[in-house]
Amino acid sequence: MVSSWVREWQRQAERRAAAGLTRHLRPRGPDDGIVDLAGNDYLGLSRHPEVIAAAESAVKAYGLGSTGSRLVRGSTEAHADLEHDLARWLGAEAALVFSSGYLANLGAVAALVAPADTVVISDAYNHASLIDACRLARARTVVTPHNDPAAVDAALAGAADQPAVVVTESVFSVDGDAAPLADLHRVVRRRGALLLVDDAHALGMLGPAGAGGVAAAGLAGEPDVVVTATLSKSLGAAGGVVVGPAALVRHLVETGRPFIFDTGLPPAVAAGAHAALRLARDGDHLREEVRRRAGDLVRGLTAAGLRTTAPDAAVVSVFAPDADAALAWAAACRDRGLAVGCFRPPSTPDGSSRLRLTINAGVPRAEFDRALEVIVETAP
Ligand code: PMP
Repeated sequence: MVSSWVREWQRQAERRAAAGLTRHLRPRGPDDGIVDLAGNDYLGLSRHPEVIAAAESAVKAYGLGSTGSRLVRGSTEAHADLEHDLARWLGAEAALVFSSGYLANLGAVAALVAPADTVVISDAYNHASLIDACRLARARTVVTPHNDPAAVDAALAGAADQPAVVVTESVFSVDGDAAPLADLHRVVRRRGALLLVDDAHALGMLGPAGAGGVAAAGLAGEPDVVVTATLSKSLGAAGGVVVGPAALVRHLVETGRPFIFDTGLPPAVAAGAHAALRLARDGDHLREEVRRRAGDLVRGLTAAGLRTTAPDAAVVSVFAPDADAALAWAAACRDRGLAVGCFRPPSTPDGSSRLRLTINAGVPRAEFDRALEVIVETAP
C-alpha cells in the first residue's frame, strides 16, 4: 500500500530535479570556518558572550525544555521579563511570546480574523507563514500587488461592509525592500481596518533603538496596528512574538491555538533573547555597520555588472539567469568557504532565482570583503 505513496513522492522528486529545484540538507559544523552571508544573525548576537551566559544560567535553572504549554506548566520569569521589555521596546501595551515566528503569525492572523466575514488583504510577496496563517484561518484573502497602497485601498473599498485586516511585512524577506507602512496605515485608518505588520526583518535593524519598521514609520503603539516578529533574526535566538493591545494578548492566551497547544519557548531561549534584546536596543553601532556593508555589497556587485535588489535593512538579493545557475553559483561560493542563500521557485516567483545575501555585523570586515570578491569571481 505504502509503495504507491513512495512512488508518488519519487515522481514529484524527479519533477523537482528536472526543474533544478532539488533541495539538500548540508552538514554544518560548530565552527566550520564558513563565512556566513546566509543566516539571519544580522547583529551577530547569536554568539555574544552575554547572550550565551544568560541562556546558560537559565538552562541550569530550568533544564533544556519548557516541558509543556505555558498555560499547563507555568510561565517563567524569563518569559515575563522578555515580554515586558519587548512591549516597551516596540512601544505597545503588551507582548506574547510564541515558540516561533511562524506560530506567532498563525496566532495573530487567527485572532484578527475572529469577527465573522473578516477579509484579509495580503501583499503578494508576504512570507509563507503569513500565507499559511490566512489559509488556516479560512479567511477570504485578497492578494494585492507588492507594495501597492492604492491597490490595498481598492481592495478595502471592495470590502466596505466587512471587517478587514491588511497584512504585510515591514522589510520583505527575499528582496529586502521596505513596505510603505505610513501610506498603508493612512489607507487602513481611513477605511476603519486593521494593519498587521510582520517586523521579522526590521526588528533590531530599523527605527529608534532598533525598535523595528513599525516604529521607524512612526506607528508604534497605534491602536489599529498589530506587530509580529521573530526572535530568530537580529536577536539571534528563536521564538516569535505578537505585540499590540493588552486585550489582544489576553485573547491569544485564552484562545490562540498555536499558543495554547504548543510547548512553550524554552526558558533558556527566552533568557538569551532577552539579553540579545538589550544589546540590540543599544546597538546603533551594529546597525550602522550593517548599513555600511549593505551599501558596499550593492556597489561592489553592481560595479561587476550584477543586478541586485535595493536593501532597506540587511537582506540583499543578487539575480541569477535561472534556477540551475543560482544553484551552481551558491555551490561555487560554498566551495570557496562562503555560505549564501539560494532562492528559487517556489520561494521566489518564476524567473527570479537569486542568491540571497544577508549582512552579519559579527563577520570580520576582511572576511566580508573577501566574500564579496568570491561572489563576483564565481558569478555565472
Ligand atoms: N516571518 C518572516 C517574514 C520570516 O522571514 C520568517 C523566518 N523565515 C518568519 C516569519 C518565521 O519565523 P520563525 O523562523 O521564527 O518561525
